[in-house]
Amino acid sequence: MVDIQTLDRKMCGDIWTSDAMDDLLREIASFGHRFTGSPGERKARKAVVTRLKRWGLATRVQRFKADTWERGNSRLTIPGRKLEIPCLAMVFSASTGGKSRSFDLVDLYEGTPGDFERNRRNLRGKAVLFSRKEYQEHGRPDKGWSRYRAALEAGASAIVVGTYASPGVISVLSLSFKGSKPGLLPAVSVSGESVAALRRAMKNGSVRVNLSVSCETVSRFTGNVVAELPGKRKTGAVMLGAHLDSFCLSPGADDNGSGVAVVCEVARLFATHKVKPERPVRFVFFTGEELGRLGSKKYAGSLAPGEAGIFFNFDLPANGGFPALVTMTGRSDPEFWFRLQEEMHYRFPVREIVATASDHYSFYRRGIPCLWEISRNAGSRSPRALHHTALDTLEYVNANEMKEAAVMAAKIVLRLACKKMFPFEAFEPLPDEKVPHWS
Ligand SMILES: [Zn+2]
Repeated sequence: MVDIQTLDRKMCGDIWTSDAMDDLLREIASFGHRFTGSPGERKARKAVVTRLKRWGLATRVQRFKADTWERGNSRLTIPGRKLEIPCLAMVFSASTGGKSRSFDLVDLYEGTPGDFERNRRNLRGKAVLFSRKEYQEHGRPDKGWSRYRAALEAGASAIVVGTYASPGVISVLSLSFKGSKPGLLPAVSVSGESVAALRRAMKNGSVRVNLSVSCETVSRFTGNVVAELPGKRKTGAVMLGAHLDSFCLSPGADDNGSGVAVVCEVARLFATHKVKPERPVRFVFFTGEELGRLGSKKYAGSLAPGEAGIFFNFDLPANGGFPALVTMTGRSDPEFWFRLQEEMHYRFPVREIVATASDHYSFYRRGIPCLWEISRNAGSRSPRALHHTALDTLEYVNANEMKEAAVMAAKIVLRLACKKMFPFEAFEPLPDEKVPHWS
């Protein structure tokens, strides 16, 4: 029987005195972006595999082909005023084939259904402009999806979206919505300041603009990294995961280099402290999360019934303050979580909800109980608004918060993997999801 308290002490000491996490994060945040299928993503996969193998863990790559997208240059100008508007092509934008195309740009303000309705007869062949500000869709945070669809259905020929994450910053958006496919029309995002400039240039509600977008939708080999520490029994593995990919153009230090570093840290601890767990402990690093959980859908779909006992996700685990837990386990009894925390000598808030926004959801849909480690004051330090931009850099990741997240992760995993008793049960799976998300 493993002496959990002794191991716990050793591991916590090790976390606070090791530079393994810093080291890994520095390396993977130095490859430029890690968009699915990109060279940066490949290098990050290699950095992780090298470490897992060095620690003696059986490691493999689950390779598969994914539809992804490659960015070229984009240019938006107002020729009448010799004005250039900085812009970024939206992921899955159509290409203009390197040529500049001329459009009347029509202002649709916030792009509400009413804004579309009022301009219904005036959109065919035009470029539409709307800002992404605060508009809520069905009470959920704005994603813009219904407006992309509305623009398409109204016969618009191009889309320009204003973004307001931080002053001067252009958020990179994705032109995807349910039922869409890549390359439907050229689409770019611009900063909030640029929207103001475009609106100043509009007389009678429109202005002539030139737009060129070069990009390509491509099919690329990519893959998930899977490493395992065997347990005494073969099934009911405790699985930890984090997505390796970042959004296009983003070095993804916080989203999700931090999660990768935390999962790797737990792997290092379990391997180097020679833990002999009751259940297998599996470490999975996903590709394609930012393209609609491609990697985790693939991986969770490949599991045999009973193979996973629980899936523990790490997406933005060090994003503002001490760690907290989102649980999707069916165990909302406070007594249970209270006892676990007493035993761990570690307190953290717990919230039982069904969160659909990251890789755990792919497992949840297959009836596997899930945990998701997040930060208590998620996003409070600011970079939340900088995710999916070129500014998601090392400067915004707090090394101590990563260590704190690793401490909580290691404590929980020790208790779930090394005891004979296991407190979670699988539930009824939900119907299969389609892969990829636009098919
Ligand atoms: Zn993420």
